Amino acid sequence: MVVKAYVMDGVWDPKPGYVPNAREVREKRAVRSDMVYRNLKAGIREVPEPNPGNLDVVIKVGACGVCGSDIHTGEMASDGYTRYAGHLRLPVIMGHEFSGEVVEIGKDVTSVKVGDIVAVEQIRPCGFCDACKTGYFNSCRNIEEVGLSVDGGFSEYTLVPETFCCNINEIENLLGNRIAALEAGALAEPAGVAYNGIVVKGKGIIPGTNVAVMGTGPIGLAAVSIAKASGAAQVFAIDISEKRLEIAKLCGADIVINSAETEKKGHKISDVLLELTHGLGCRTVVETAGAPDSTYPEIVKFMSINANVVVIGRSPNVAPIDLEQFIVKGCSLSGSIGTAGNDIIPTVLRLMASGRIDMRKTITGRFSLDDTQKGINEARKGGQGKVMISQHYK
Ligand SMILES: [Zn+2]
Ligand SMILES: [Zn+2]
Repeated sequence: MVVKAYVMDGVWDPKPGYVPNAREVREKRAVRSDMVYRNLKAGIREVPEPNPGNLDVVIKVGACGVCGSDIHTGEMASDGYTRYAGHLRLPVIMGHEFSGEVVEIGKDVTSVKVGDIVAVEQIRPCGFCDACKTGYFNSCRNIEEVGLSVDGGFSEYTLVPETFCCNINEIENLLGNRIAALEAGALAEPAGVAYNGIVVKGKGIIPGTNVAVMGTGPIGLAAVSIAKASGAAQVFAIDISEKRLEIAKLCGADIVINSAETEKKGHKISDVLLELTHGLGCRTVVETAGAPDSTYPEIVKFMSINANVVVIGRSPNVAPIDLEQFIVKGCSLSGSIGTAGNDIIPTVLRLMASGRIDMRKTITGRFSLDDTQKGINEARKGGQGKVMISQHYK
């Protein structure tokens, strides 16, 4: 039997001058894919159906979100190399933000059964390296990433080790609809990235304090939702896209600010936020814009005394930060990448099952599995919320 899947392929050809490290050579897994893979080609293909080992689960994929990495991997620079700079092993079935229905289990699987619906964790840490031993699973030195280095969720069926499945039956009970629950489950990954930054690596939100979220892409929107659910006094969402700011309101932002409009009028975001908070500023600031040149010079002005600045948005640029302000105001910076371990995904799923956050509000496009490429192109347009792919959509 064969199943349909969206497969990315390319040519392994390290750039002149780039020396692949030992692991890259050994496993044909690029750590810097933009230095190694060229001539990328993607499309719907027929692949062998998954065959579970003793501790594996076969799931019929319910929904899979399109992420920035899905967009950038297929984009090529003028020399034909991928624009995506992260882990990649080709060919691979892409898609890492997914959920599904359990249709078959290996003989030693005990925690899920056929018929359950599950969300799937994206990061597969090795468990042996110094990062894993420290509990920093996202920083694992031998990390495997679903949809990038092992097969992912833009597929009819896929194989997942039992340990990375998280039951979402309770979300179906709350929403009364299986497809809706599968969509919510697929959104656990971006929500987990925000949760990891704000709660696990950061210090959490102190109820009654002000929170600013800079950049309201899918992770920023999750940050807004989590801040609201955590009891923030006021949640400010800042972006340049009106469409995203409208979604931020749905997610619980009290005040949304279009920074492009503000600047056109000659005002600075820091002045606006200081005025709105009567000079106090924001106790938690989440940078999900990945625009360090413009955000951090403002953040240091409007962060409150004892504030925590959570660094999630990634950029090749170096942030111009006045660190003196961190000393004077007693503030801290918390860097955070991805989501793994630390009970993050199960916790985010409990927030969903209790109705405290509803990330389905961030969905702005739904495409069938056959139209995965169209969905990725839609997400590329910018200013979108989350674009979702599902074989259940017609
Ligand atoms: Zn993602
Ligand atoms: Zn490890």
